[in-house]
Amino acid sequence: MCARCGDLLDAPVLESAPSSAGLCRACRLVPPPFVRAVAFGLYQDRMKAAIHALKYDRLQPAAHGLGRMLACAIAQLAAEAPAEMLVVPVPLHRLKHAERGFNQARLLAAYALEALRKSHPEWRLTLASSTLMRLRATENQAGLTPRQRRLNVRAAFSVSDPAAVDSKHILLIDDILTTGATARAAALALVRAGAASVWVATLARARRIHEFRRGASTSFEDAEGDPALPPDSPAATAQAASIYSSQDQPSF
Ligand SMILES: [Zn+2]
Repeated sequence: MCARCGDLLDAPVLESAPSSAGLCRACRLVPPPFVRAVAFGLYQDRMKAAIHALKYDRLQPAAHGLGRMLACAIAQLAAEAPAEMLVVPVPLHRLKHAERGFNQARLLAAYALEALRKSHPEWRLTLASSTLMRLRATENQAGLTPRQRRLNVRAAFSVSDPAAVDSKHILLIDDILTTGATARAAALALVRAGAASVWVATLARARRIHEFRRGASTSFEDAEGDPALPPDSPAATAQAASIYSSQDQPSF
């Protein structure tokens, strides 16, 4: 797995780039604005079904068990992350929030913190769910071109009160991480607002390479909606570079 973003590395990547072993193509091309991203498991099978039940069937009690799994993911950071962090769930756009009635990332973060208060009582994690705002409804990117998707997610986030995150260490929480474009955009908004560092924890990691190698469809119908190409194709390299570097340009 990539040491920064947790994406699956394939053997040829490791062999061809011994000097940067341990990092995926995207993280080598443009290092992400977060220190490290961790996940509990893969976005597949029962995990996928459980996340669907929570988000789309609005089965909120599912968040109890999933929150404990998220706590296990966060605990992977215990040895290296700061002793005190603000926990910021990736927000939904207000229209999406109104439609669903709750933000699954906030719900999962709350249950995870409950578990971590018992397992890691010395770790000072404070939920700050109104810190980050989603200015644009980028959750459903189906039907957009790759360029439209990049632009869509780039200016999607803003920090409501920069003084609240200034010099703070942030733990960003979401349910799913696909290519990391959403996590990068959210982390960048926090870093620009003065955050000292941003760490990322999600329940499930969607595997692009894995999907591609199995010859299955590379679309993610309800993940971040990022474009997926064969990971080693020249087009994928160019696309990865443009996706990630585009986020370093000023927001509009
Ligand atoms: Zn990576």
